[in-house]
Amino acid sequence: MSWSAVLEAYARKPHPERDLPEGVWLCNDERTLTIFDGYEKAKFHFLVMPRDPFPLEKGGTVPSSSLHSLSSLLKSPHKLEVLKALERQAAEVKEMIEDEMMKREGWTWDVRIGFHANESMRHVHLHVISSDMLSPKLKNKKHWNSFHPELGFFLHLSDVIAGVEDGSFSLQPKDDYESILKLPLQSFYDGRTYANLPKLKDHLLDEFKKRGKAEKARIEAAKENEDANENEKGTKREADTQEGATQLQNDGESPLKKPKVDA
Ligand code: AMP
Repeated sequence: MSWSAVLEAYARKPHPERDLPEGVWLCNDERTLTIFDGYEKAKFHFLVMPRDPFPLEKGGTVPSSSLHSLSSLLKSPHKLEVLKALERQAAEVKEMIEDEMMKREGWTWDVRIGFHANESMRHVHLHVISSDMLSPKLKNKKHWNSFHPELGFFLHLSDVIAGVEDGSFSLQPKDDYESILKLPLQSFYDGRTYANLPKLKDHLLDEFKKRGKAEKARIEAAKENEDANENEKGTKREADTQEGATQLQNDGESPLKKPKVDA
């Protein structure tokens, strides 16, 4: 099988929870499948795709040819039903990611949900990716620009759905998107351009640490404030016990902990 057909093969598995290679499957329902991106470009990076066959609410299924790519999906009369199913699943995955962020890092940061305008892999797939972009697998300008949230190659799902609903969305010529991938390395934090990837990565790590520190201090202050208010009322907080219970759950195995397997 060609490497570019791997996602399509996964989407066609009748029992993805047991049929996918180890370390690939995250979750699925009747209509969608979510996998770990094999070459994650951030701390959390997943791909949500429609399963094939994709059952329609009014009966029947979406033709496989409509699931080939975003462009083929957008030509289908069933596009909104598929996009909304992906949206629902992506929202659940985002929640899982945020839970895991709290457990691992003690704060949450943005999670982006969108398509690449020009895909490299066959079969429609939505990226659900944390905004840190801290990953050794982010190796070149193309990787960076393809996930930059403002350059236009990364198509936010909310924009695609809104544009499909009001008829304003259409894909541009492929070459226009390709030229975005060659743009200089510009930070989405401060808009500055960086001479090379190591310099950009230093900046990303600095920003991540800085923002994490500020957000954790904010959470801590809010918690202290809340505790003080409750003490003032003279009520003994039951949350102490609840917190213990949460801690116990948090120590359990996480579904987002990727087993060590080469993709
Ligand atoms: P796109 O540019 O939208 O087609 O992105 C394809 C995504 O698939 C990239 O983020 C890759 O890291 C990911 N990918 C490539 N090969 C595999 C694989 N065998 N298993 C899981 N993810 C993969």
